[in-house]
Amino acid sequence: MAEYLISGETSYVPVDGLTAPQLLSNGQGLTYNDFLLLPGSIDFTASEVDLTSALTKGITLKTPLVSSPMDTVTEADMAIGMALMGGIGFIHNNCTPEYQAAQVRKVKMYPHFNYRSVVLRASKYEQGFIQNPITLGPNATVREVFNVKSTHGFSGIPITEDGSANGKLLGLVTSRDVDFLKPKDYSTPISEVMTPLSDLITAYTSVTLAEANDIVSKSKKGKLPIVNENNELVSLIARTDLRKNRDFPLASKDKNKQLLCGAAISTKEDDKIRLELLVEAGVDVIVLDSSQGNSVFQVNMVKYIKQRYPGLQTVGGNVVTAAQAKTLIDAGVDALRVGMGSGSICITQEGAFDSKVNGSFLMAVGRAQATAVFKVSEYARRFGVPVIADGGMQNVGHLIKALSLGASTVMMGSLLAATTESPGEYFYSDGVRLKKYRGMGSAEVLKQQTCMDRYYSEKGSPIIAQGVSGTVQDKGSVHTFLPYLTAGIQHGCQDVGSKSLSRLRAMMYSGELKFERRSASAQVEGGVHGLYSYEKAFM
Ligand code: GDP
Ligand code: GDP
Ligand code: GDP
Ligand code: 5GP
Repeated sequence: MAEYLISGETSYVPVDGLTAPQLLSNGQGLTYNDFLLLPGSIDFTASEVDLTSALTKGITLKTPLVSSPMDTVTEADMAIGMALMGGIGFIHNNCTPEYQAAQVRKVKMYPHFNYRSVVLRASKYEQGFIQNPITLGPNATVREVFNVKSTHGFSGIPITEDGSANGKLLGLVTSRDVDFLKPKDYSTPISEVMTPLSDLITAYTSVTLAEANDIVSKSKKGKLPIVNENNELVSLIARTDLRKNRDFPLASKDKNKQLLCGAAISTKEDDKIRLELLVEAGVDVIVLDSSQGNSVFQVNMVKYIKQRYPGLQTVGGNVVTAAQAKTLIDAGVDALRVGMGSGSICITQEGAFDSKVNGSFLMAVGRAQATAVFKVSEYARRFGVPVIADGGMQNVGHLIKALSLGASTVMMGSLLAATTESPGEYFYSDGVRLKKYRGMGSAEVLKQQTCMDRYYSEKGSPIIAQGVSGTVQDKGSVHTFLPYLTAGIQHGCQDVGSKSLSRLRAMMYSGELKFERRSASAQVEGGVHGLYSYEKAFM
């Protein structure tokens, strides 16, 4: 060994690769494709890697994945899918405030899909207990059970003396009690088909959720009515909810066990009304949707939200510099959305000539995304403000790189736009299954110009499009696609020797995590090459 040491050296400590500041400090903006992470050492399996990460100061997710507030990406189905898998979705605002609030309600009331019942019955969970469950009186008919089923989507109904949700409990009716009745029996009073109180398993109000769940699992019944000492109904526990909790152990939930949901608003004065409707619907986090967030309009809106709804988490953006970030952090944001011009549908930096869009534009403003994520995260972490890396994610590698440069979560548009849960129908073109995907600043959206103003052009002035419309290929359901992404992130973390995302960030800031620039030919080498043909699953 000694003979390999240069004279004067007593031992050899390998120095290799660049730290993140070294990689990103020469004044040239880098994209995710411009660099690689160097491997570290592994002493754990990939599935052990903990992906828990902060979305905002007040919300932590078990999966660092976020769906973008775009009208071809996030409505209720996407937000439900994202939250069940441990991420979160932001409902877009290219719609009326009422429609957007209804989408939020749908998420908060999952699995309650019936719109009317949802609107009537917001906030009915108290930590897993269904408060004010739908009830009927003993003289109601079997037909009314079917009515409840068709309006509310369930048929487990406690029967109380006066039919009210706090009345004396007399029994319980479920689908099994009425399933096989013939239409001629539909006028039978419920008291004749229900399971009477004497046969029911119930629990007292003092029961904890865990104890109640234990009773439900042992009793093998679908419902557990909770009563007080006078046998008056207080609440209800549903077996389905327990099962959901087991099936989706990572689900992002609030203290009442409802799924978390985000929504976008603009900084226009009118949107204060939209905001109020969203808050009434139970929204957990608001994103102020603007392509250049460092504006007096956004600062005023952040201050308004913080003063009017102090507990409501607020994401500001978009920003790409520390100076922009400072304005919004000073205003009080709980997280920053980072990216300008890096989205797949985006022409903010480049512009495009399109006669249909009115001509050619060059905004010439923006920043390469890897540099933007690092610079903003590096500044924001001093204030405990998490960063959402938004846009430009084309594959799992990009997600890992964004997280390794300081982002806490990643926001995706195109990657999620053609999943089962995204709005819009699939169609075929040349035998390929596709869905439509369009920029929120595309001419198509701007011409519609319903209620949003992210890329607003002043009245009378020409439309300046900052995005395009296109199509993306089917990716199946988020229930299969997100596990593929999270497994990829776990493998990336394993390769660099980090057992969690917080450790990954710590390694980056301490300089332990090493990077290397990729030349154009290194990028070619890193891709598949030299084959006549090949197949690739997903991306
Ligand atoms: P975690 O599931 O370990 O994250 O802890 P939670 O506080 O969410 O849950 C505590 C207990 O309540 C566990 O037994 C869960 O299975 C159960 N639980 C969680 N969510 C619900 C729900 O929506 N309804 C019911 N009935 N039980 C739930
Ligand atoms: P059921 O057996 O037909 O009653 O339906 P499930 O128990 O499978 O599903 C009912 C779902 O609706 C559960 O997730 C409940 O938490 C939810 N839910 C919300 N409000 C109510 C209510 O007032 N009564 C009942 N039974 N379920 C409700
Ligand atoms: P389902 O699977 O959604 O139809 O509902 P359940 O499993 O809750 O109920 C199945 C049958 O058992 C119905 O006839 C209910 O009325 C009855 N049932 C529900 N809870 C109890 C209980 O605590 N004790 C008894 N003996 N029967 C019950
Ligand atoms: P993707 O994941 O498709 O690469 O990027 C999605 C992101 O692009 C969105 O979250 C949003 O920040 C941004 N974006 C959405 N629509 C437009 C648009 O029309 N123009 C620009 N410049 N950016 C857009």
